[in-house]
Amino acid sequence: MSVRPVYLYNHSLLRQKTNQIDTMTDEIKQFIADMFETMNNASGIGLAANQVGDNRSIIVVDVSDTEEDEVVFPPTVFINPIIEKYSDDIIDYEEGCLSVPKLRDKVFRPDAVRVKYLDKNMNEQIIDAEGLLARVLQHEIDHLNGIYFFDRLSAVRKTLAQGKLRKIMRGDIIPDYEYLLSDIQ
Ligand code: ZN
Repeated sequence: MSVRPVYLYNHSLLRQKTNQIDTMTDEIKQFIADMFETMNNASGIGLAANQVGDNRSIIVVDVSDTEEDEVVFPPTVFINPIIEKYSDDIIDYEEGCLSVPKLRDKVFRPDAVRVKYLDKNMNEQIIDAEGLLARVLQHEIDHLNGIYFFDRLSAVRKTLAQGKLRKIMRGDIIPDYEYLLSDIQ
């Protein structure tokens, strides 16, 4: 297993849609193990494949260490995840992102989602998630579609974030884990 560099804003891969997988291979198993190691190394609770430079539709989530959820959900990989249903309740919650270090802001999202995905054995699963797990799933599935959390901020909040985003792009704001700067300058 190895820690991979986290691609930072505004790397072109983070704006591209990822591709679905139809077969599990040893290489993908190794990649998923690396994703977990990279996420844990950066103290993250979610990571999408394109954040480590891969264009496949895979996310890993680990909310098991947080005290906010009463139900403990084990670290899990979601392959080809798709949100099938959103709750009507919309709540705001402060988000951050391993690809956008030191930028945090409150994002409005549905409180609960139903997600269809393949597990590590490529068996179809459906999960009804709420609270923090629903939040992380929506954030990471957004990544697979080339969307950042700050895309969902109001125009004013987005404008306020611009200075920090430019600094991240230039390498003036860097994280304390392995990273790769944007290929667009
Ligand atoms: Zn993120």
